[in-house]
Amino acid sequence: MVNSKQEQSSMSFLKRFLFLVFIASISCCDEVFAQTDVNSEKVFKFWTWITADEKRTNESFSEDFEKYSRNGIDAILINTYANPKLLERLVPLAKKNDLEVHAWMFTVNRPGDKIAEQHPEWYAVSRDGKSCFDDPPYVGYYKWMCPTRKESKAHILSLVEGLAKVEGVASVHLDYIRYSDIFLPISLLPKYDLKQETELPRYDFCYCDVCVSEFEKIHHKNPKDSENPSIDMEWKNFRLNKVKAIVDEAYDIVHANNKMLTAAVFPYPEMADHMVRQRWDKWNVDAVLPMIYHSFYNEEIDWIGYATGQGVSDLKGKETELHTGIYVPNMKPEELKSAMQAAKKNGAKGVALFDGPAITDEQWEIISSFKD
Ligand SMILES: [Zn+2]
Repeated sequence: MVNSKQEQSSMSFLKRFLFLVFIASISCCDEVFAQTDVNSEKVFKFWTWITADEKRTNESFSEDFEKYSRNGIDAILINTYANPKLLERLVPLAKKNDLEVHAWMFTVNRPGDKIAEQHPEWYAVSRDGKSCFDDPPYVGYYKWMCPTRKESKAHILSLVEGLAKVEGVASVHLDYIRYSDIFLPISLLPKYDLKQETELPRYDFCYCDVCVSEFEKIHHKNPKDSENPSIDMEWKNFRLNKVKAIVDEAYDIVHANNKMLTAAVFPYPEMADHMVRQRWDKWNVDAVLPMIYHSFYNEEIDWIGYATGQGVSDLKGKETELHTGIYVPNMKPEELKSAMQAAKKNGAKGVALFDGPAITDEQWEIISSFKD
């Protein structure tokens, strides 16, 4: 009898304990994705990306936030250049306007990073031996870190943690979470007077000593000796996994701070893999916002639906939500409407518009009426 009573009381303690854990896990996620958690079948979420200049006044930020909120935006992704202080200042202003705040950061590409600049060896090195530290590919702001080195990775994750600690933030939002483009979007090639039909050494990363020696240790071959490293699947997979490792660690860090992890990614996994070595369907991430920017790829509006559907299908069985990123400049209002319909029809949980300041009055009309 005594034994069975003890057993009963320990059972009910266990049940109570599990119930409390269950409640705690609900309430931690509740605040973050309130818009999608409640009645997710019916709620379609609207996001926009903005970059914050710390010289601006609170009043001018509030004016913008009020406008976004009035026009149906639910969530804003704020780039504060990974500055948690500026984010702390903006969160209450945004919340006052019922906006969810996401801390948007440049992740592996870190232009203007004063700490990283003290360590030239942290930067990615191309197959032809050029470092992003002093000879970046394509554009001056392409300052890619090596994702493998312990120190550069730890630096990136410390910035993630700094943002995750800001009270009231819903997620840390990773952008540039990939390698530099091995293939540029087709519409950008003429701008750089480039033809990219194979993986060119100038745009192929990272061949620094740490990456090469770590790879050699596992696979007993040196990618620098390969005549055509683009067909070496272990080398490709090694790099896909290096990006995934940063994401998965970031996921643990933000969750330890009761926040979510979101990311801006390439249109759909196969395409992301091919262009920038980013296989986001394998990541631990709460939501992805694929940048399904049709005009970058000379595609039509229906492609937004195609790419959305592909991503949604690749995420089947995972808890990761997909919200379609739309590039609004030069879009006619009716095109924007069709794009949002295509995203919704193909399973997106929302749309993210790039970027807030670029949205015209005519486009706002479409967005707010789509909302109703
Ligand atoms: Zn490296």
